[in-house]
Amino acid sequence: MTRAEPGRIRSLPEDVVRRIAAGEVVARPAAALKELVENALDAGATEVRVDLKNGGKNLLRVSDNGCGMGREDSQLAIARHATSKLTSIEDLRRVTSYGFRGEALASIAAVSRFVLETNDEESRPGTRVEVDGGEIRSVRETVHPRGTTVTCRTLFFNLAPRRAFLKSDSYEGKLCVETVRCYALVFPGVGFEVTNDDRVVFRLPPAAGIRERMADLFDKSAVEGLVEVRVENPLVRLQGFLSAPGQARPYYDVQQVYFNRRPVQSRLVARAVLDAYGPSLDSNRPNFLLSFHTDPSRLDVNIHPTKHEVRFADERFLFDFVSEACRKVLGTVLRRESGVDDLPVQSSFDTGSAGPTGFWQLHNSYILAQVASGYVIIDQHAAHERVMFEELAAASRQVAPQGLLFPITIELGADEFEAYQSFVAELAAMGVETKVFSGRTVVVETVPSGSYIGKADLREFFAELPGLARDSARLRPELARLVACKAAVKAGQMLSPLEMESLCNRLFACREPYFCPHGRPAIIKIATEELERRFGRT
Ligand code: ADP
Ligand code: MG
Repeated sequence: MTRAEPGRIRSLPEDVVRRIAAGEVVARPAAALKELVENALDAGATEVRVDLKNGGKNLLRVSDNGCGMGREDSQLAIARHATSKLTSIEDLRRVTSYGFRGEALASIAAVSRFVLETNDEESRPGTRVEVDGGEIRSVRETVHPRGTTVTCRTLFFNLAPRRAFLKSDSYEGKLCVETVRCYALVFPGVGFEVTNDDRVVFRLPPAAGIRERMADLFDKSAVEGLVEVRVENPLVRLQGFLSAPGQARPYYDVQQVYFNRRPVQSRLVARAVLDAYGPSLDSNRPNFLLSFHTDPSRLDVNIHPTKHEVRFADERFLFDFVSEACRKVLGTVLRRESGVDDLPVQSSFDTGSAGPTGFWQLHNSYILAQVASGYVIIDQHAAHERVMFEELAAASRQVAPQGLLFPITIELGADEFEAYQSFVAELAAMGVETKVFSGRTVVVETVPSGSYIGKADLREFFAELPGLARDSARLRPELARLVACKAAVKAGQMLSPLEMESLCNRLFACREPYFCPHGRPAIIKIATEELERRFGRT
């Protein structure tokens, strides 16, 4: 290591700057491969072949049968900021192709020994361009079928620090294979083949759809345990698959999100999916593959250098849309398994307007819903108690607190205060955040989100605290039961159709939707036959 000498600042030579910048865009073989596969798909290929050596470090080759390039274009393609996909900044709002910056090929060619072979029509000979560390060595005629083959050898041969930074062949190879798999999942109609060190990693024939493609990639049980989600509204169309409740395992095969077929990391969407499972998930991790289609103007794809992230115009909407859509299919599955088969749950996102929703409230206490084989009556308090209990009892989950506009102050008795002090951390984890005001006066600042709780409920809550078991195994469920009981919606509270729908959806995502935590029924089903019998119709 040499240290900088004081007073000797020099500009880096142009070609070094270029190499360093290129090294940032294509930081590792999988990043270069991503760009090459995207180019093949942008070119309309129906067959993509990928060959790797040493996990892509010594050889990365992508061949496609896409539109190919003519003689002039093939040289332009490796020039920096040359693209056929964008002509003005306004076009950025409309891009549907993966590429648009026109820097990938230039960057890859700058840091490897690079050969581009391409042909845009079978009648003419193809073109072969050879580039070494960014310098064009030769441009020749060659025989190549319609399509393009890019060969990139010894990535970073001229950027030693980057090369040294790469991980083992097997690790880099794994990232490369995952990259191709990611595109193969969302382009089921395209055939993909990947080899590494001359061994076939996978060979995927064109498939009829995403589920069929998943069946080619994952084991049978994982694919059989998937349910499909399909929702459309004026802003966004969603198609995807996710593990049925109870089918999630501690490890997942795939958790992938796409916007307009662009694979992205979206913590927002992932959170919304997990939210839809609710506590039924325990510590299992579901498979999910969600593919969103939306007008390109609603997406900002240019916020991240490798385009791993996109920004959707209305993120809050997206969260609700996703969790609602997933909850709906997950709820449907549970209902089928548990006998109440066909609750007419309708999503408020389907139409964008309020039309009848199929829920009625009786005496502000019971929710009535028609099902194909009769009707169900849901006790709103028992149902909400069950939902809150399962959310609060799941030890792995931190419950979101909801701030009280007017914090509630309560004066506690000596034993209440003593019990309160030993539970204060657990309570905070359940969304009940408190502060000691003075003496034995406690201020409740937040309650679990979605609570219907008032001062009288809190008073009862603190009064029951001293009676709770203190041993750690029983503490969380006991405390959860008590909080759920006090915070759940009471009988006598009027609910909007949307609140009823949401409560029913959440109830059916529970592990045990039929009973409240005290064991009282939460749902009663009346079959049409019973009505017919009582009205003397049979
Ligand atoms: P971008 O994809 O952002 O346009 P690239 O450097 O990846 O930039 O590619 C530059 C151009 O080269 C593309 O716009 C396209 O016209 C052409 N090109 C690259 N790869 C292929 C390919 N596999 N088939 C056909 N044309 C290609
Ligand atoms: Mg590109």
